[in-house]
Amino acid sequence: MKTLIQGGYVVGFDGNEHEIIKDGVVAFDGDRIDFVGKEYARPVDKKIDAQGCLVSPGFIDTHFHSGINASDYILNDSTKTDFFASNYLAHGGPTREGAHSAHLKDVDIGQRYSLIHVLKSGVTTTFDIGGAGGETERYVDMVDQVGIRCAAGPSYKNVSFFHDREGRLEYDWDDERGSKGLKAAIDFAKKYNGACNGRMTALLFPGHVDSCTPALLKDTRKAAKEIGVRVQIHATINLFEFHTVMQRERCTPIELLKKIGFLDPEVSLSHCIFISGHSWLAYPYGDDLKIIADSGASVAYSPLKYLKLGIVMESFDKYRQAGINMGIGTDTFPKDILSDMRYAAIASRVADKSFLSGHPRDVFNAITLGGAKMLGREDLGRLQKGAKADITIVNLRDIAFGAVRDPIRSLMETAVSRDVRTVIVDGETLVDNGKYLRLDEAELLNKVQAKGEQVWDSVSKWHWTAKGIDAVVPPSFRMK
Ligand SMILES: [Zn+2]
Repeated sequence: MKTLIQGGYVVGFDGNEHEIIKDGVVAFDGDRIDFVGKEYARPVDKKIDAQGCLVSPGFIDTHFHSGINASDYILNDSTKTDFFASNYLAHGGPTREGAHSAHLKDVDIGQRYSLIHVLKSGVTTTFDIGGAGGETERYVDMVDQVGIRCAAGPSYKNVSFFHDREGRLEYDWDDERGSKGLKAAIDFAKKYNGACNGRMTALLFPGHVDSCTPALLKDTRKAAKEIGVRVQIHATINLFEFHTVMQRERCTPIELLKKIGFLDPEVSLSHCIFISGHSWLAYPYGDDLKIIADSGASVAYSPLKYLKLGIVMESFDKYRQAGINMGIGTDTFPKDILSDMRYAAIASRVADKSFLSGHPRDVFNAITLGGAKMLGREDLGRLQKGAKADITIVNLRDIAFGAVRDPIRSLMETAVSRDVRTVIVDGETLVDNGKYLRLDEAELLNKVQAKGEQVWDSVSKWHWTAKGIDAVVPPSFRMK
């Protein structure tokens, strides 16, 4: 079927970079783009009017964890002060006797909900770190039903984390746990790479630089090359990790990755905040930035997650200028890639103390071309003949946008997920007029709320304080 999108600001691609075509058109036939330009005279089966809108390549979210927002994300608010804002480590480990119900994968409600949520912010391709947890077949079926393009695989590590009853973190190391996890990830990749009509791309996701042994990381790279998949790892994501690796290996996490031959253009580093020279580290030695740039590895930065903790990358612009391929991820909640694009730009300006930093062009590139490069896909992140028909249409004709001159600047300064009007993946319209077409959103939200209540009710069963949610994360005001 041939579809023509007409009117609006079309983000075309000249083979090298994006360009804006005012009152442009995009034609696609099935799952491929046929034409991008000013006029299209040939007959079509369907027309989409995009006047007053931005017609953009679908966005790529390079760091996302599928699951309900009732669990870890709210507990981030309770990060312990003696953990130096070390995010998940402050809440991620249950007591030894209590299973962490908030961590349980929940294919039908939480994972489905979060994929629809990010899709509705205009994301047509998302990484889903560890998304295919236990029930791989059901997970892949669910992704197929949702319709999004997904780079997924189960995550694995050597360490199990636990809290003692006084809030100390305990690490249990287990070589077998790591190698079994890697094997399961390889099995997933072999079975599902290319599933969902080509929309599923398998990746290997070793957990973190401080939760995997160097041997497991080396085995990961070897396996990835053998089966032809890419790798993403959480790296330099918190101060605990930095100091654990420094103490154990006498080098920074990035220097360790270099030493064991882990880094190359097929690897992306999640977050990558605490590199040598970051102001929180008191470690102005070495040059982690140059190591990453020289290796060709990419960085998947999640600005909101860190802003919530009072932390910024120092800076998005410096990484980019060093030559590092940058992607942006939503990671925490809300999973709104348009807001995260804005946060990346603003945080870069604050870090550099310069309004010239964090240009709209560069953060837009990160959520399109940067993500595509991270996946090694030249048919994603751009609107060009032959590319995948993954298209996001954002309404810019709203009082919030006022007068529009440079639509990318307007997008960066103003747009949020609720301005996304249409989302097309592989030529299929999944969101139209701001509504997800494949299920009843109200019904899903009822299930999400019920699931949330269930998760919150269970906090005292696994949290080291043995207290309920209201004691662990007090509400903003007393609730009557
Ligand atoms: Zn993550």
